Amino acid sequence: MQAVFKGSPNFDTDRKPIDRIVIHWFGEGTLESANTRFQNKSSQVSAHYGISDSRLWQWVKEENVAYHAGVYSMNQRSIGIEHDATTTKNASEETYQASIKLVAEICKKYNIPADRTHIIKHSEVKATACCGTLDIDRIVREVSLLLTPVQEINDQTKIDLGVHGVMEVQAIKSKLNDMMRDLEDSHKAIDSLSSQLKGFTDKWVQEYKLSTDSGLVQVEIEMARLLPLEDEYEKTIEAIEEIVGHFQDKNSRLTALGAVRQEIKAVSDKLDDCQKKLSTRKILKTITVFGYTFKIYREG
Ligand SMILES: [Zn+2]
Repeated sequence: MQAVFKGSPNFDTDRKPIDRIVIHWFGEGTLESANTRFQNKSSQVSAHYGISDSRLWQWVKEENVAYHAGVYSMNQRSIGIEHDATTTKNASEETYQASIKLVAEICKKYNIPADRTHIIKHSEVKATACCGTLDIDRIVREVSLLLTPVQEINDQTKIDLGVHGVMEVQAIKSKLNDMMRDLEDSHKAIDSLSSQLKGFTDKWVQEYKLSTDSGLVQVEIEMARLLPLEDEYEKTIEAIEEIVGHFQDKNSRLTALGAVRQEIKAVSDKLDDCQKKLSTRKILKTITVFGYTFKIYREG
């Protein structure tokens, strides 16, 4: 906020390090009447700043000593700010906002802590009614908030949540725990399914003598190759079920087919051997199951 410099003859240059801000009110009068008083050399009083609503006037430069606190050593180390508040008029919201902004700027500039030790009422320097109804605690509180750096939140940040906040966090945590449990259950279910699937695949890779890196897709291709016709498959299953009983599901059917296939192959191999030996015998019947051809010969 840019101050309008009015000037005052009531100052000197014997400045000490600035570490206090003294808050005043007009008590009576206006910004204009304060200006008249501060510009009058015989009054021997002044202030650095005066605020009335959105107006900010300056009479003494910060680098110089203004005569506002009534105690010279305090004048040397402080900046004095007048506020438009009187015995019959409270400070306006605009005046508060302008004051908060100005005090914050000064605190920042001189590294003055925003607390009630460093931002003080005129009456805390000497016996006076100043600064009356002006709410200095509000100004200090809001300046402190303005100057508090925005905290970055990370995993290590500790935040005071209060009772309500803690309860909310606990509710969220317990919900998260529930979700984690559900997730673990899902993982277990998936693990169980994959191990079933792997068992199924491994078994049929072995059964069909597929290469060891074969997966479910190769197994299915092989099954499709071996069982080209649904009708034929159903007929074969029925034939097998007549002997071994009803199958519960597709897998047990396939398992049985695999077993039968091996049996058939073993028999087929034996028969091939026999065929060579019995080549002179007459073929009675030829049957084909799963691509294996059986030749039944007449004895003798
Ligand atoms: Zn005062």
